[in-house]
Amino acid sequence: MRMYDIIEKKKLGNELSTEEINFLIENYTNENIPDYQVSALLMAIYYKGLNRRETSDLTTAIIKSGEEMDLSSIEGIKVDKHSSGGVGDTTTLVVAPLVASLDIPVAKMSGRGLGHTGGTLDKLESISGFNINLTQEEFINQVNTTKVSVMGQTKNITPADKKLYALRDVTCTVDNIGLIAASIMGKKIASGSNKIVLDVKCGSGAFFKNFEDAAELAKVMVNVGTDMGRETIAIITDMEQPLGFAIGNAIEVQEAMDVLRGNGPDDLRELCIHFASEMVHLGSDMSAEEAREKIIENINNGKAYNKFEEFIKAQGGDLSKGFKTCKFSEDIISDKEGYLKDIITTDIGNAAMILGAGREKKTDDLDMGSGIYFYKKIGDKISKGEVIGKILTDKKESINTAIKHVLNSLTLSENNVEKRKLIQGKVTKDGVIRY
Ligand code: URA
Ligand code: CA
Repeated sequence: MRMYDIIEKKKLGNELSTEEINFLIENYTNENIPDYQVSALLMAIYYKGLNRRETSDLTTAIIKSGEEMDLSSIEGIKVDKHSSGGVGDTTTLVVAPLVASLDIPVAKMSGRGLGHTGGTLDKLESISGFNINLTQEEFINQVNTTKVSVMGQTKNITPADKKLYALRDVTCTVDNIGLIAASIMGKKIASGSNKIVLDVKCGSGAFFKNFEDAAELAKVMVNVGTDMGRETIAIITDMEQPLGFAIGNAIEVQEAMDVLRGNGPDDLRELCIHFASEMVHLGSDMSAEEAREKIIENINNGKAYNKFEEFIKAQGGDLSKGFKTCKFSEDIISDKEGYLKDIITTDIGNAAMILGAGREKKTDDLDMGSGIYFYKKIGDKISKGEVIGKILTDKKESINTAIKHVLNSLTLSENNVEKRKLIQGKVTKDGVIRY
């Protein structure tokens, strides 16, 4: 088999065989095929696409390039959640203890953040003493005793995806549905859970701006999961604006704690309850409606927050030590008035990054206390001179730049603006439901 022939086949729009896809992934992982040939193939795939069989084969090959987690010694149905990435997305920190509070096991491997999307691991490390480096045995034991653990990757999971994702990043071939689906589903399936709930974001802060494209991505991921024997559903959610008020690390953990105690921003609370209900439904014989009632009950009776504390303590975290705070705190004051019509969500994420809350390069250190509070949602009325947010940082020189980024990312309108619908649709193996 020759890589040249595989590139030509895809260039002409033909289907690649299982053997050709296996040859590609095996030899690319082993460095027998150079980046320049894989780059050419990625661009051909970008234009000609992958069908369902090719996408499932690519996913399988990506999984086989490394090790797989074996979670079979954890009792019960393991349900995992994955978000396609957004700004200020704190959901895992809330959803994991919510689901665990109903005795459904959550064994989650998470990643770090790069650029404007924050990583769950970074947020957890803003808690004093919290340990993300568990052995597989410690991880499994903790899930069996407390029902929840979140850790970084220990095993060599999907090395082919690491190489391919890095190459896609520099060859402008990230936003292809088949490639995204194989990358995300490969990692999820190799992480060992039985069932998967996907949060596919839609809007200016996400890969795809409109519902139809997001639903297409969701459909392909659900099909891949189904083909691999892992029940998968996707919820399409709005990313036209940041989720919650906090964008950062320590401040997002504190916001998650607020939600678990029954307070916190409405949008974050609603999204978390929705995902937790779907996960509990998949992991038990409860309907999603029953699960929702039980989850709200556990927020109100304190069990959800207690489960969070138990989870943090089990991994060495000490909440009594408090969180890092910043030297500077500066209000963001609106210089215009009107109804908030549009937010360039990624610009707010980038402003938080400048303040120290995100990484520009993989090797950058984070300032755990830094970040942005942005209190306004699309449709809200803003007055001139009103405090609409807050900047937290140790870097005095970044304050004005960050404030400018936030203010410039906003479009106000003289006329009333409709509020956004947060939860826009659901995709199962049977089709797409638009809410
Ligand atoms: N996240 C991933 O892990 N892979 C992609 O291809 C896109 C987003
Ligand atoms: Ca948030």
